[in-house]
Amino acid sequence: MNIAENLKRIKAEIPEEVTLVAISKTKPEKDILAAYEAGQRIFGENKIQEMTEKWEKLPKDIEWHMVGHVQRNKVKYMAEFVELIHAVDSLKLLKEIEKQAAKYDRTINCLLQIKIAEEDTKYGINVDEVESILQSEAYRKMTHVKVVGLMGMATFTENEEQIKEEFSFLSTTFEDLKSRYNSFTILSMGMSGDYKIAIDCGSTMIRVGSSIFGERNYQ
Ligand SMILES: *Cc1c(COP(=O)(O)O)cnc(C)c1O
Repeated sequence: MNIAENLKRIKAEIPEEVTLVAISKTKPEKDILAAYEAGQRIFGENKIQEMTEKWEKLPKDIEWHMVGHVQRNKVKYMAEFVELIHAVDSLKLLKEIEKQAAKYDRTINCLLQIKIAEEDTKYGINVDEVESILQSEAYRKMTHVKVVGLMGMATFTENEEQIKEEFSFLSTTFEDLKSRYNSFTILSMGMSGDYKIAIDCGSTMIRVGSSIFGERNYQ
């Protein structure tokens, strides 16, 4: 696997306005540096501790995104540096992010994760819950958290029609919210296996891991 070549190939394939987040979970620092030297600056991780350790050691102009499920008691470890949290799924979690971001006098951008896949193992909330969070007084009073869009993961399947339907649903929902909430700018959908479909359906941000860094080895 040549990381620089993989990146170059993917960059050439995607429209300029689509942001590429390189998902570096489980990968060593040398792999991240290889991507960094090829010009990549946005990296995503799914474990807070792992991301924090990498942030401490790696160049400070890297923009770190948390793409995994977030436990409230761990928000404090990333509040100093995280740029975007992709998978927020409750007002309670937003409140904790607000509290921790305030300590650093920062504003942390967040996406709300909508459940579009059929698998029970995937996280996320429904459209009504998104609306109720955005309209809540608690959220409206927050000054250190900004919900800037939506994130979603399609079902893990070979059935491209199903993936397309799930992404299209998310995209329609995003466009509707965007017309009413002017903070909405980001639609995060698409991974190695389905980012082309996601872009066709209107994704503005894709999260690609194995197509850049190779298969992950979980021991
Ligand atoms: C691991 C992960 C990705 C990247 O997956 P690949 O299939 O390796 O591209 C994207 N999004 C989330 C939330 C992930 O956990």
